[in-house]
Amino acid sequence: MTNFETRAIHVAQDPDSTTGAVIPPIYMSSTHRQRAIGDHIGGYEYNRAGNPTRSAFEKALASLEGGHFGFSFASGLAAEDALIRAALAPGDHAILADDLYGGTFRLFNRVHRHTGVEFDVADLLDLDAIRAAYKPGKTKMIWIETPSNPMMTVFDITAISALAHELGLLVVVDNTFATPYFQRPLELGADVVVHSTTKYLGGHSDVLGGAIILNDGELAEKVQFVQFAVGAVSSPFDSWLTHRSLKTLAVRMDRHAANGQAVAEFLSQHGAVSEVFYPGLPSHPQHEVAKRQMTGFSGVVSLRLAGGPAAAKRFCESTHLFTLAESLGGVESLVNYPYEMTHASANGTPIEVDQDIVRLSVGLEHIDDILADLKQALA
Ligand SMILES: *Cc1c(COP(=O)(O)O)cnc(C)c1O
Repeated sequence: MTNFETRAIHVAQDPDSTTGAVIPPIYMSSTHRQRAIGDHIGGYEYNRAGNPTRSAFEKALASLEGGHFGFSFASGLAAEDALIRAALAPGDHAILADDLYGGTFRLFNRVHRHTGVEFDVADLLDLDAIRAAYKPGKTKMIWIETPSNPMMTVFDITAISALAHELGLLVVVDNTFATPYFQRPLELGADVVVHSTTKYLGGHSDVLGGAIILNDGELAEKVQFVQFAVGAVSSPFDSWLTHRSLKTLAVRMDRHAANGQAVAEFLSQHGAVSEVFYPGLPSHPQHEVAKRQMTGFSGVVSLRLAGGPAAAKRFCESTHLFTLAESLGGVESLVNYPYEMTHASANGTPIEVDQDIVRLSVGLEHIDDILADLKQALA
């Protein structure tokens, strides 16, 4: 099973051996019988430590990212929290890219800072900024999101990883926007991939989840310990639902990308829009890097309204097909005003988003209907 689409459907999804059910059952059991004390059946003991439905999903995630180990969590932030706990100790320092999901910044700034984990934000498009932010003996990690949320900045995973490894840093890539179908950071040199599976991997705006995928056995053991000891695991049903979604990831992403490209091109020609942020446009400042490390550009498109903040808010409240809501990556199109919605917690921090920015998650509706809605909302 060497091809992505085939692995997405078949890894850890053999028909049930006792009944022949083509889809393995959801193991809604919190605990497992022991033959004798400590004699576990299939290695399972208690749901927080492991559940067969979750294990299958974790194997599929690892396979799609090309990693040895996969761990799934109750949310993207729960996954990120587990990774920070596993990889950083009090006094350790991390370098974060200056454009990233507001909740990730908040997790460092308002949760882990109190545990003694230090961080700085830097413009990681400039490799010298990494050297400048690096604190010998203290810096342990560099965290990037590419494409970033919401500005769609593309960071060069290969170049950043090469420099980071020279400095002995762990490279974490949030791959939520690209998905492993379009970009596999571990193959490009990164050490750890994190996901909000709530977004494209789940794909239907009906389940929250997060994941960590990595190759290093020692770090994997620490992550597994935090997952077990803290317990922010994904439930059997959430694991099953998201695993089910992985099977259609490839076809969904192809259409998200085609519709995203069409929307980005349409907006680029529109007088009410002063700037479009989409890595598939040749005018995107990192288009060449994007073409090198991604095989498609996904379905998130951000834009700057020529009329400023008031026009941006009016546009968000004028769409009919695009639903005004946080989140992204589902089959239905969503519109988001980052400054007051997804990134409100970033206001007053170095990662504050401009007030004239709108983020679109372009769904899988017919492209004519998508463009017609944008046209009327801009008019
Ligand atoms: C949504 C999101 C997260 C957080 O994930 P949750 O599932 O909401 O906890 C992290 N990173 C990115 C890029 C996101 O878009």
